[in-house]
Amino acid sequence: MRIGIDLGGTSVAVGLVDDEYNVLYRTSAKTAGCKTDSELFEIINKCVYELFEISDISNDKIDSIGIGCPGSTDLERGLVVRSGNLPLSNSPVVSILTEEFKKKVYLDNDANCAAWGEFNSGIAKSVHNMIMITLGTGIGGGILINDKIIHGLENHAGEIGHIVVDINGKRCACGRIGCWETVASTRALIERVRSEVKQVPYSIIGKVVAENNGYVDGRTLFTALKRGCKVARDIFEDYLEMLSVGVLNIIDIFRPDMIVIGGGISKEGDTLLLPLREAVGECSTRIEISSLNDNAGIIGAALLYKK
Ligand SMILES: [Zn+2]
Repeated sequence: MRIGIDLGGTSVAVGLVDDEYNVLYRTSAKTAGCKTDSELFEIINKCVYELFEISDISNDKIDSIGIGCPGSTDLERGLVVRSGNLPLSNSPVVSILTEEFKKKVYLDNDANCAAWGEFNSGIAKSVHNMIMITLGTGIGGGILINDKIIHGLENHAGEIGHIVVDINGKRCACGRIGCWETVASTRALIERVRSEVKQVPYSIIGKVVAENNGYVDGRTLFTALKRGCKVARDIFEDYLEMLSVGVLNIIDIFRPDMIVIGGGISKEGDTLLLPLREAVGECSTRIEISSLNDNAGIIGAALLYKK
């Protein structure tokens, strides 16, 4: 029995994973607003103790703990060097958890954990070369070649959200212009929906937003699409074009057996997948949606000991 911790920019999910790689129990909590790493780990530790409580499984039954963190990690020293939305700066994540739970603790980047989860027990189980693409606030990437995660120099490989697709485009949070995540992340999609709705508030998508009290998320566009909204259709076509440009770049570099799309909007399933395959065109690389969904990062983190 192992514990997998999937730390995201705004929340954390913790799961108890059995020897067949099933998530038996999970807990989660919001991490937004944490100012220090000790505040953050207070929340994470609480989730782990809650897990012991709801599962009735005590710490002495746990073989190891794995944690996936967003941002830049130093695997040798067990640190998160920095992390966009979280108060982590050279934070000794591994020793903090080891001290609390007295277990062997494994660390990797969150997208690598998602890729590792899909490879060990998800849709990519039968393949040797795969690229995981997680669509969220940014775009994360996990690269698995010949059954191994590729970490690169200083563990910085897989930053696929920052491949440049438009040198005249928008400035990215990383400082460069026209990174893929400025046009193909879920955040980019949400921003586009917001600005279109301002132009055409009486469109179907405008009504969807109004019904949600002005709130726009990754689902808004897909709800409007299902109601036959033309504005939503145009937004979606532009989005697919930008998503497919990046996917094609990745295919040309790695020619993997499989590309796995994860992150919140991957839950749209075939509504996203089928048009994406069409936009990419005839290709030997299989494009699939994550089969573990929200559990990919938890399972991958719990299985880091196998790396
Ligand atoms: Zn960038």
